Amino acid sequence: MTELSTLEQSRLLRTPLPGPRSQELMARKVAAVSQGVATTMPVFAARAAGGIVEDIDGNRFIDLGSGIAVTTVGSSAARVVDAVADQVAAFTHTCFMVTPYEGYVAVAEQLARLTPGDHEKRTALFNSGSEAVENAVKIARSFTGKDAVVVFDHAYHGRTNLTMAMTAKNMPYKHGFGPFAGEVYRAPMSYPFRDAPEIDGKLAAARATAQIETQVGAENLAAVVIEPIQGEGGFIVPAPGFLAALAEWCRANDVIFVADEVQSGFGRTGTWFAVEHDGVVPDLVVSAKGIAGGLPLAAVTGRADVMDAVHPGGLGGTYGGNPLACAAALAVIETIEAEDMLARARQIEERLLGRLRELQANDPRIGDVRGRGAMIAAEFVDPATGNPDGAVAKAVAAYAHSQGVITLTCGTWGNVIRFLPPLSISDELLDDALDVLTAGLEQVS
Ligand SMILES: *Cc1c(COP(=O)(O)O)cnc(C)c1O
Repeated sequence: MTELSTLEQSRLLRTPLPGPRSQELMARKVAAVSQGVATTMPVFAARAAGGIVEDIDGNRFIDLGSGIAVTTVGSSAARVVDAVADQVAAFTHTCFMVTPYEGYVAVAEQLARLTPGDHEKRTALFNSGSEAVENAVKIARSFTGKDAVVVFDHAYHGRTNLTMAMTAKNMPYKHGFGPFAGEVYRAPMSYPFRDAPEIDGKLAAARATAQIETQVGAENLAAVVIEPIQGEGGFIVPAPGFLAALAEWCRANDVIFVADEVQSGFGRTGTWFAVEHDGVVPDLVVSAKGIAGGLPLAAVTGRADVMDAVHPGGLGGTYGGNPLACAAALAVIETIEAEDMLARARQIEERLLGRLRELQANDPRIGDVRGRGAMIAAEFVDPATGNPDGAVAKAVAAYAHSQGVITLTCGTWGNVIRFLPPLSISDELLDDALDVLTAGLEQVS
């Protein structure tokens, strides 16, 4: 694709970081933007493509973040750029609820094809992951006539009032922002690295459903909402059988099983949706982040009878399913299929897991290496106690930043470094980034 030829695919530090132009802009940012909106990197972007983000001082960074799992097909994928340019020239907005357009319908058709299960499905489109999660809850309540929602330890579902209640971690997401929405209950997650070894997927599910039955009651429960691989919570991959047993319990108890695939979905883990690895067919699937190559789009897709339980006019929003975002989403799907990017995600998994496990074998601070596809993480611990060590993760990430590698941390204790490269990244850039990480681990010891 043309994008790669225009931006050199190599890491380059031309100035000390941050460079003079970024320093100038950061001073303007501090004076104009709420400090509540913080940044991981101190540099300002000018261009991005393939696996590189170039800043306004000409420094080139290896992108292991994809703008938090968004630019899965790359930050300026040719098909996405062209499709959005064509659409912007035709019209930017009519509001689908006023004068509908084909792009919205076409995205809904594609989501019916790509989400798990071959039952009849419907979709509704929104602007953000949080908004879509909220709407999945509204839809589940409308269908079941019940109120309660169950979420899990370490969960992240967003920053709006209802989704803050659903999110587990206080700082920085909830602190000082309450009171929160009611009827949200938390159940224990399957966390193989931290669970006792005998807690397999089935037992972890039984532990959760027993607590739900005693503390909530299935007769009050509208939905169980779960990330098939937890994102902000630490890239926690539940034990095999956990998701299937939960989904089975939901089916037996007239509870809607909602897979929040905002981070794990849309090709990132080597399948279209992460639940496919567990052979689970959710009632509702929530998509966002990777769905539209960086344009704001989110979706709830699922069983036609559930989605159509809502009265006409009950779902919507001014911008939901904006025509530019829909054009981008269709181009993202075409790109993933034409360039066999699901296979690329599996290659990236092999490369990242291989290198990280080599590092782990010689470094007891790396307690766990896990993940699927281009959603891989290393969890750092104190070797003496096994307790989470956020300081090491933070120091290694800071070293990577200083050397021109964009990495993100996550986890309830901030002790996980996550790898979320765009699927358009080259092997050379991945290897270079891992060399930097290796040097960072030596530096920090
Ligand atoms: C990011 C995220 C959200 C929230 O999406 P926004 O677009 O930031 O509102 C919800 N769920 C999961 C799993 C996420 O990773």
